[in-house]
Amino acid sequence: MLKRILVAMLALLMLITGGCTQKPVQAQSFALDTIITIKILSGGDDEDIQAALRHIDQCESLLSAHRSGSDLETINTSEGAAVSIDPLTVHILSSALQIAQQTNNALDITLYEVSRLWDYKSDNPQLPTSEQIQTALSFRGMDRICIHDNTVTVQNTRIDLGAVAKGAIGDEAAQVLKARGVTCALLNLGGNIMTLGDKSDGSPWIVSIEDPDGNGTIGSLQFSGSKAVATSSGAQRYFELDGVRYHHILDPQTGYPADSGLSSVTVLAPDGLTADALSTALFVAGEDAAQTILQQYYPDCAAVLLRCDGTVRVLGDALFIRE
Ligand code: AMP
Ligand code: MG
Repeated sequence: MLKRILVAMLALLMLITGGCTQKPVQAQSFALDTIITIKILSGGDDEDIQAALRHIDQCESLLSAHRSGSDLETINTSEGAAVSIDPLTVHILSSALQIAQQTNNALDITLYEVSRLWDYKSDNPQLPTSEQIQTALSFRGMDRICIHDNTVTVQNTRIDLGAVAKGAIGDEAAQVLKARGVTCALLNLGGNIMTLGDKSDGSPWIVSIEDPDGNGTIGSLQFSGSKAVATSSGAQRYFELDGVRYHHILDPQTGYPADSGLSSVTVLAPDGLTADALSTALFVAGEDAAQTILQQYYPDCAAVLLRCDGTVRVLGDALFIRE
């Protein structure tokens, strides 16, 4: 488990190149099943970091499917009844519905029953049968989620926010720092990176993208300002049986691990929720659909696609320096 967390942590390496007016302050915590690191480069101190970390804990209490009393637990045990939820949960569910629509349901947060069949945490994993997959797939459908003001009704399905929660909570943490006057900071939520502001010496943020095969990095994204970077890759969580790797990003059409010809997708977006949701969705959708989706709906986002043959394609307007 620890190894997998470390692999997830290393999915994106942060390289910061100088230029701070104050001594950077940094703190870490364990939340969202991963390691969270927040570093302030200017405009704040450890109290600001602790406030952001506390807020991350509060968000986790709201969004974890396994915490008693969380919005997710309430929704997933509601048996079709309308339930009242926090504005943050409303925001995440509505955004997921919209992104699902724009990606032809490549993003599908109702795969809970299917995901449960793929036992990535077991030391002795078993392949689900195709009957089990078909049955589990009968419980999926984004049209089963209905949001009205601050209430949601979920019929005959359960929700898994694994593809979007870290990004959305990163946005929340960055917002806390900003509201407290922090002008320059870097947040790493288990590989989901958020930047706040510009470095005082004008040098760019540099975020390296790890090679999913463990051979160092494939290159780095360089950019300025407040942005989010998320990577989805089959190497982040998987098991192997008879030489075949079964990873955790599922094709909602088949219920099996997505096999779109891509081995990793990194998205650079203005916010964490979009970066996180899109990295998962584009990984499932594949290269051609990814290009269409970005052009049509996300002109302010860019993506670095690593193909299974090791070649790279950059979509959108981003400075990517190949290793
Ligand atoms: P990420 O690491 O952000 O790509 O999210 C992957 C996680 O999201 C998985 O571990 C599942 O919990 C969930 N998931 C898997 N496939 C999908 C999908 N097609 N759409 C939405 N969530 C998914
Ligand atoms: Mg994601």
